[in-house]
Amino acid sequence: MKIIMLGAPGAGKGTQAKMIADKYSIPHISTGDIFRANIKEGTELGQKAKTYMDKGLLVPDELVVDLVVDRVQKDDCAKGYVLDGFPRTIPQAEALDAALAKLNDKVDYAINVEVPDENIIKRMSGRRACVACGATYHIVHIPTKVEGICDRCGAELILRDDDKPETVKKRLDVYHDQTQPLIDYYTNSGILKEVDGTVDMKDVFAAIIDILGE
Ligand code: ADP
Ligand code: AMP
Repeated sequence: MKIIMLGAPGAGKGTQAKMIADKYSIPHISTGDIFRANIKEGTELGQKAKTYMDKGLLVPDELVVDLVVDRVQKDDCAKGYVLDGFPRTIPQAEALDAALAKLNDKVDYAINVEVPDENIIKRMSGRRACVACGATYHIVHIPTKVEGICDRCGAELILRDDDKPETVKKRLDVYHDQTQPLIDYYTNSGILKEVDGTVDMKDVFAAIIDILGE
């Protein structure tokens, strides 16, 4: 089962992708997490990506595409995977389709998690991410048991630099301009599925299970 998660930044793609990965025992591949891990490790890729991420811009396609195309060919992806944050541009989607076609393969579902812009800014300022394991929470909607501490691994939680309101506004502009066209792209290829992302995360997940099957 090969799945793409679509939606604005903060729509809940990562939250749902983790639940999908657990339920169907497939890897969760988040390009944002890959970049953040590279930034933390101080790699050359991380240094390049950071200059774009801090401004709310997309990292150039050439730094993302090969990374994902290599990743989805690893053994753990044989049964499927859930891509979170990729593709984000039409050239990325075309490159993924072309690479999969060469392997006689294709994406099965593109799930669009629909949340209006008004809700996004509130969500992002409340998002907290674990510095160690990448788990995400929300100070109001998905609080941790102890404030500021990850339930899963006990490490510290932070507000991501790119979740500050000025950067979120830029990221939303970039989303509408460069990523939203993917909705038409996947509608045309017949694999687009829409879910309402404004409801409780459990209800969003139930709608996704209805699409993917038990
Ligand atoms: P994305 O991966 O699309 O950027 P996240 O999954 O990180 O988004 O979610 C953004 C923020 O909204 C997080 O703080 C998350 O805990 C919270 N969130 C996710 N789903 C919901 C939901 N259905 N209702 C309310 N808040 C949610
Ligand atoms: P995310 O964690 O998915 O919100 O991604 C955080 C940031 O990483 C984005 O705002 C982009 O700067 C960068 N990024 C992640 N995935 C991609 C991608 N597929 N293409 C370009 N930039 C990306």
